[in-house]
Amino acid sequence: MTSALSGRSAEILATLTRLRAADAPTRGGRVLSYVYDSGLAELDELAAEAIRIMQPVNGLDPTAFPSVAAMERDIVRFARRMLHGDDVVGTVTSGGTESCLLAVKTARDVWRAAGGTGTPRLLAPVTVHAAFSKAAQYFDLELDLVPVDAGGEVGPECLTERFGPDVALVVVSAPAYPHASLDPVAQVAAAAADAGIAVHVDACIGGFVLPWWAGDADPLPAWDFAVEGVTSVSADLHKFGYAPKGASVLLHRGRDRHRAQYFATRRWPGYPVVNATMLGSKSAGALAAAWAIIERLGESGFAELAASCRRSTDAVTAAVQAIDGLRVVGSPVGPLCAVATDDSVQEDRRVDPHHWADSVRQRGWLLQLQPGLVQSDGTRLPHTTHLTITPVTESVLPGLLSALTSAADEVRGVSAASAADVVAGLPAGFGDALAALGTRTDQLDSAEASALLNSLGLGIRDGGPVLPERMAPLLALLESLPAPLTERLLVELLAGLTEP
Ligand SMILES: *Cc1c(COP(=O)(O)O)cnc(C)c1O
Repeated sequence: MTSALSGRSAEILATLTRLRAADAPTRGGRVLSYVYDSGLAELDELAAEAIRIMQPVNGLDPTAFPSVAAMERDIVRFARRMLHGDDVVGTVTSGGTESCLLAVKTARDVWRAAGGTGTPRLLAPVTVHAAFSKAAQYFDLELDLVPVDAGGEVGPECLTERFGPDVALVVVSAPAYPHASLDPVAQVAAAAADAGIAVHVDACIGGFVLPWWAGDADPLPAWDFAVEGVTSVSADLHKFGYAPKGASVLLHRGRDRHRAQYFATRRWPGYPVVNATMLGSKSAGALAAAWAIIERLGESGFAELAASCRRSTDAVTAAVQAIDGLRVVGSPVGPLCAVATDDSVQEDRRVDPHHWADSVRQRGWLLQLQPGLVQSDGTRLPHTTHLTITPVTESVLPGLLSALTSAADEVRGVSAASAADVVAGLPAGFGDALAALGTRTDQLDSAEASALLNSLGLGIRDGGPVLPERMAPLLALLESLPAPLTERLLVELLAGLTEP
């Protein structure tokens, strides 16, 4: 086949390739978050070809492009069979966040249609994904976050005792992202069914791996549509469905609930608009890739990949438990876990998880730092480091385990930066700038916010972000400043990245 590309186009693609070279490696298991590598080169090629075939299609209108509806039907059929929901219906969305947003919007509208008035409440453990905080903000619900225990777990009664007529939706996770805790779905859903409250199970990360996670001898507690009171489930195709980014499924029990997800209008002078999702015109690329991967893998393919994740996760968690001064938080379910300091050993043997992550990073592996959190009841969840294991991990396991161990040896006994130390260590310019703002720290304008970032030595220079070599001090800083202020500074930092 001769290429239709001119010399100029080839140059443009070379530029793109050069830009990509600066990105975190998306294949090979070096990045233990963000990317989900099946380890199967064929799947990547299959996905790329599927995207190419569907490239010009507009997913907006499945009547003009019936291929879109056909692929979506197949994906929904597969997902609902895996999630024990033979009678459920659903939609392919652009990702976990869109699935979560739509689950909340749908529940709010169903609640209103049933007579709910005033501000509806969204009830969930504090470990629920931040997408639900976004949903509450976008769709004007009150977010009611329930504290969890030190293992990231929540007793069902902590949720059910807060049930009331204003609760439009309770969200539980399978598992929750921060510590991989599997929420008590069955108990919460039973009580919610009695109270007439909708229950969403956020299985964005677990949806395409937990169905094959446990053996028949040691099954997981039921967490999907097998539980009667569960009204919707989200499961990301672009996580353990191994699809490229841009695909997730949202399933609802009952057609009427699904229909409440839609937006339709003929009250404008243009074409009648009927959208199942938030976007209008949209790519069908990720949908096609996800469809092709499901066709290729089938149930047995997913089962094999899940088994590989399981073996690697067991190896990683055992290795971490064996490291003096670190511990795995709680009882993780699925191919992910959080690691914290083991406070039960003497101080000089403790390992701070963020210093550890920085040291692991110098060895070429990227872990994800999670800040600590003071919950609404005053209890404190410690800062942790998150690892997500994918099938590719098994092929690089010895290197990973040795990096985890030697990194811990390097930073053992180095204490975490305390909030007081961090604040005391801030440059004088920052303190002065902050003092000048007084109590207005959550209403900074862009000039004030970027001045604060600059005084911290952060910000944008020469078109790129200035970020510290080590992330632990930055996370400690995040934790020590008031949340609205850090949120505003993060907005300024990220917004600056795309400013021409
Ligand atoms: C990833 C994730 C989400 C959000 O999904 P995106 O695809 O990143 O938008 C929601 N919930 C859980 C549990 C997740 O792991």
